[in-house]
Amino acid sequence: MRIIIIGCGDAGISAAFSALRENPKAEILVIEKKGYFYPKCPLPFVLEGDVKIEDIVTPLSKLFANSGINYETDEVVGVDTENKVVQTKNNRFTYDCLIIATGSKAVIPPIKGVNLEGVYTLKTLEDTKKIMQRMEKSKEAVIIGGGFIGCETAASLTNKNISTTIVELLPNLLSPQFDANFSRIVENKLNENGVRMITGKSVDEIIGKDEVEAVRVGDEIIACSLVIMSVGVRPDVEFLKTIEVGKFGIKVDEKLRTSAKGVYACGDCIRIRFMVTNEPQQSGLGTVAERAGHVAGLNAAGGDATFYHTLNSMITKIFDLEIGVTGMNETMAKERGYKVVSGIAKGLSKPKYYPGGKELITKLIYHANIHKLLGAEIAGYEGVDGYLNLASMAIQKGSIMDDMLRFRYCYAPPICSAPNPMIPATENAYRKLRRRR
Ligand SMILES: Cc1cc2nc3c(=O)[nH]c(=O)nc-3n(C[C@H](O)[C@H](O)[C@H](O)COP(=O)(O)OP(=O)(O)OC[C@H]3O[C@@H](n4cnc5c(N)ncnc54)[C@H](O)[C@@H]3O)c2cc1C
Repeated sequence: MRIIIIGCGDAGISAAFSALRENPKAEILVIEKKGYFYPKCPLPFVLEGDVKIEDIVTPLSKLFANSGINYETDEVVGVDTENKVVQTKNNRFTYDCLIIATGSKAVIPPIKGVNLEGVYTLKTLEDTKKIMQRMEKSKEAVIIGGGFIGCETAASLTNKNISTTIVELLPNLLSPQFDANFSRIVENKLNENGVRMITGKSVDEIIGKDEVEAVRVGDEIIACSLVIMSVGVRPDVEFLKTIEVGKFGIKVDEKLRTSAKGVYACGDCIRIRFMVTNEPQQSGLGTVAERAGHVAGLNAAGGDATFYHTLNSMITKIFDLEIGVTGMNETMAKERGYKVVSGIAKGLSKPKYYPGGKELITKLIYHANIHKLLGAEIAGYEGVDGYLNLASMAIQKGSIMDDMLRFRYCYAPPICSAPNPMIPATENAYRKLRRRR
């Protein structure tokens, strides 16, 4: 049995090893247009120098050495799903099962001047290298888009003494993932560190002769020699002609089967569903890509696994601030017609008497009628990931307010505070509910 995997990113690599574990006798071939693997998540931190390029890049020859997995460095240009043939630039390969894991491409906004020297996206290693070169001669930068990657990049550039402005079309940064009160926590942190933010406006023009010299936002001209566009990604699927693709990517079922027999897909190139509402959406998280790769690889190799889609659990670090979200925020829930009650707990990461405790703010969003946990937003300076994962698991298990009060949490003064912030946040939501009656 020959399984071909197109693309060796987070999803493809996970699919290859999962297929191998499930069926060690299968012939597994990974076709990747670059000769190496690297994760994309660290790229904003490479700019700052916190992470070294050589520590994230692994040549495919090393990655698959003695693994039993074969690879080809080539670009796939077409798939004949009827005859089960993959066409690359240089060759043709037949398959029994195919896994598409080609990821996504950066969206280039339709702004005059996007092709000028000094204007980049931050999506690939090549982008990162170009930006780093440009940073050496840049004193001012503009970032178009104030999402997770835009904010992480702004912090990195600022730490390298580049005066940075973020221009975001929506009224708040990190929107729509966070409610406005949580976006403000990030905005305050960026502001404190000297990042300028322009929200509710777009870059109308990138100005320069051959190289970028400025951007125009309405009537204002902002001088800069570096522009980074961070306005989203789209599935990399143009070469597929006979497989059903929708607005958000390749259509897959819960086994990650596509519309073509024997063809699976995983990672940023697929359309997934949001667990809370079942709405279709783009993928776009490394964590989701890795799990999808695992399921696609296992199923292609003859196993039976189910893909549980996404809760959009995300976390980031902007300067020293950790901030994350899982499930639905209050605004999203209200927009979808949910009756909502939220509870907020503000406290310290350790008991007051113990040195080194840091601010921690937890917001839980509940269904006001059935008390089910719908989402959580958490910000602080330590331990945010643990609390966020706890909330994420509680949502996935269908937990209600009483469950959050009944769960037994751990505690020791040098590590965390008591009670766990889930308790005061839930009690706060309960008090609000009582006041409504
Ligand atoms: C700057 C940045 C920061 C991020 N930070 C986070 C984070 O903190 N947390 C998080 O969860 N997610 C993060 N993400 C998202 C995460 O990186 C992606 O969701 C993940 O990389 C998707 O994996 P993938 O395998 O689907 O796609 P990719 O990693 O993009 O891999 C696709 C691979 O397919 C190859 N390929 C494409 N077309 C072809 C073809 N025709 N023939 C052969 N090969 C092909 C490409 O060369 C590539 O190697 C970040 C993304 C970026 C860009």
